Amino acid sequence: MPDVITLGEPLVEFIDKHKRGAFTELSEFIGPFPSGAPAIFADAVARLKVSSALIGVVGKDEFGTLLLDRLRNDGVDISHIRIAENYTTGTAFVTYSPSGSRKFIFHLRHAAAGQLSPRDADEEFIKSAKVLHIMGSALSLSQSSKEACYKALEIAVEYGIKISLDPNVRPELLSVEEIRRICKPVLEKAYLVLPSGEEAMMLTGGKSPDEACRMLIDMGVKMVALKRGAEGSTIYTEEKVLPIPAFKVEEIEPTGAGDIYDGAFIVGLINEWPLNRVGLFANAAGAISVTRVGPIDSCPYLEEVEKLISTRLL
Ligand code: ATP
Ligand code: MG
Repeated sequence: MPDVITLGEPLVEFIDKHKRGAFTELSEFIGPFPSGAPAIFADAVARLKVSSALIGVVGKDEFGTLLLDRLRNDGVDISHIRIAENYTTGTAFVTYSPSGSRKFIFHLRHAAAGQLSPRDADEEFIKSAKVLHIMGSALSLSQSSKEACYKALEIAVEYGIKISLDPNVRPELLSVEEIRRICKPVLEKAYLVLPSGEEAMMLTGGKSPDEACRMLIDMGVKMVALKRGAEGSTIYTEEKVLPIPAFKVEEIEPTGAGDIYDGAFIVGLINEWPLNRVGLFANAAGAISVTRVGPIDSCPYLEEVEKLISTRLL
């Protein structure tokens, strides 16, 4: 049985080759890349040699085959990815502007991914995990997907499984009030939260990322890992605030770095490493991923991350 389980949207992604920054003019897209935050997360955990599973839904089409093949080949437990006969696999188009901002168009809610429902959250499967990772994207995917996450949450609480939350809800999709509302039940039970600065402020109303992360700790979260892009990350606990310096790399394509950071961080916790090593390991995994194209394709392997952090741990 897998140690780490997450739920949510497997999808294939198409990336604008010309960085138009808008979808209103002709461009060229490369893809399909296997993607979706929970799928990236599960793949990252597996490549870092901790057992993982994704609970989700794909369509009965070749995009679904592509996703299942990739996840299976990387060692992710796909036994709880359902194939929905009457739906097509979720898709996303992404365009970056030269300034680095990005836009997405998703086809998820009415695709196979959005059909995730409480019946997919199998108690027998989830109860022996060590960590249940819940992502804002899965909470905001559809009503039934949100209910699936809440059911998994209940199972985790019942069996004493650690709960982690990445509140990666896109503010274009939901209002701040709605984001707070859907994350609240998870936040109340979370051991670990892994937000970006903006997400932390959105969740708490804190005026700075630092204030927001301290508010999360005051609310009872045991650990916060604040993701700060090229600046690295900062770990908050009740006892301390631990800034973790970034690795200097050339950023090619950042999508997925946050999900890969989540996976690496949880791998570190499961391996019971000291916090500083957990943070460095996660920073290194995130840094390696931005030097490569393709969300899942860019997930680093254990040896690569170990090699990069060895330069800092001498
Ligand atoms: P996303 O939602 O796009 O996946 P995020 O905002 O959740 O991203 P980031 O902070 O962008 O997450 O990236 C996660 C981690 O990866 C950072 O905390 C950092 O450790 C590492 N990282 C990301 N970008 C860079 C970079 N340009 N240089 C070095 N490290 C980086
Ligand atoms: Mg993120």
